[in-house]
Amino acid sequence: MQAMLKNKDIKLSKFNTALTYQDKYIFHNSFTENFLLLEPILMDLINSAELEENVVEIKEVHPTLYNSLLDNGFIVPKDEDEILKVENLINKIDKSDELFSLMILPTMDCNFKCWYCYETHISGSMMAESTVEKVKLFITNTFNTMNNLKHFHLSFFGGEPLLQYNNVVRPIVECTYNIAKEKGISLHTHFTSNGVLINDIILSDLIKHEVNSFQITLDGNKECHDQIRYVSKEKGSFDTIISNVKKLVINNTKVTLRFNYTSDNIDGIVDIMPHFEDLTLEERSRITLDMQRVWQENKTEGLGVKANTIKEMFLKFGFNLPHARSLNSLRNSCYADRANQATINYNGDIHKCNARDFKKANKEGILGNDGTIDWNEKYYNRLNVKLKNKPCLDCSILPMCGGACSQYALERSNTDFCIRDFDESKKKAIVLDMFLNGEFVMTEKTASKCSKC
Ligand code: SF4
Ligand code: SF4
Repeated sequence: MQAMLKNKDIKLSKFNTALTYQDKYIFHNSFTENFLLLEPILMDLINSAELEENVVEIKEVHPTLYNSLLDNGFIVPKDEDEILKVENLINKIDKSDELFSLMILPTMDCNFKCWYCYETHISGSMMAESTVEKVKLFITNTFNTMNNLKHFHLSFFGGEPLLQYNNVVRPIVECTYNIAKEKGISLHTHFTSNGVLINDIILSDLIKHEVNSFQITLDGNKECHDQIRYVSKEKGSFDTIISNVKKLVINNTKVTLRFNYTSDNIDGIVDIMPHFEDLTLEERSRITLDMQRVWQENKTEGLGVKANTIKEMFLKFGFNLPHARSLNSLRNSCYADRANQATINYNGDIHKCNARDFKKANKEGILGNDGTIDWNEKYYNRLNVKLKNKPCLDCSILPMCGGACSQYALERSNTDFCIRDFDESKKKAIVLDMFLNGEFVMTEKTASKCSKC
């Protein structure tokens, strides 16, 4: 390829970014994700070749640099449609048929009434038996018709999903487990729960069906937690939750222990450590500490530093910390961006993004009696919303950013937007972060209020 390209055939990629770093330049291509660290004189050569539209000049002056630029995707064929390449990449990821993710909301009711919860609770709501049957049919259809299916992710969210364990959760878990085993497809089952309703019968059932993970929340030490998360004010939930977390990890289930912290409760978080001292190091390593600032909290000064110190302490104690979320949000797009994902509400309405209200008006489909989803226009708009925002088409980090998640883009479809405020220095900061830290791996997506948007 190198020998064949003449000046008129080549151009510098639109996805290159250059930024100064110490006495050099970091040169990055966001499509290939490659970096070069260049002396200023070489950067000058590239800039002047670009200005004079004479990229081959680089080859004449510095063949090694030229070859390196070509091999790493900084130089591309002139007729290459780089936006089309990004579109193909988005389609490959967001329309992959190797994974199906299904989120079920058995109820919108909850046995707790936390002040900061953004969900609209619907007392007494539960998935009807007929809807459970349709969900099971949908799961069976999915396994039977998706020929390339390799992974199935089943997750439960709410409300508190365990309020409807026997009637809703158990039959769906059992059905999915059996069919995944029969077909030899990997299954990951996850619960976002307050953890208080796990009893010995449920626990043995979860173990039998190889449930992989839970996300359970604490609001600080016993004193703070019991003031916020309780069934009755006289009897808090802290002791029960701690005991259940321990039972889960002893039985090989991973737990993300989420701490919702505020300036009032952050200092008490370390008090929970002694409660886990009787666990082995291996058992402790099944707990991931996920500290999240309560998003309505205004007093934030110094909180981040405190949170980091606490994380270090728990890491030394044997807990895990979540992987940082990938900076490459195109290749690690949100599950709601993906075609093969559905969120089924207790009433049979189908949604995608679980960071927005599950109002009827927001539904993107309905579950039919034959166990198929009848998607509406909103779903198809979502699948096609990426690359519709004009500023993204001229952005050097588009193949990394992807131009925001589908929900963010849908909510701004009539206006130009940039999740980095059209600020080139913020875009360069992302490139620098990636250069300094290496690319991050994606944390397992947890079904909580989305912190991306
Ligand atoms: S708002 Fe959050 S959950 Fe919803 S689509 Fe965007 S990233 Fe995904
Ligand atoms: S949202 Fe902003 S940073 Fe992201 S691709 Fe679009 S213009 Fe670039």
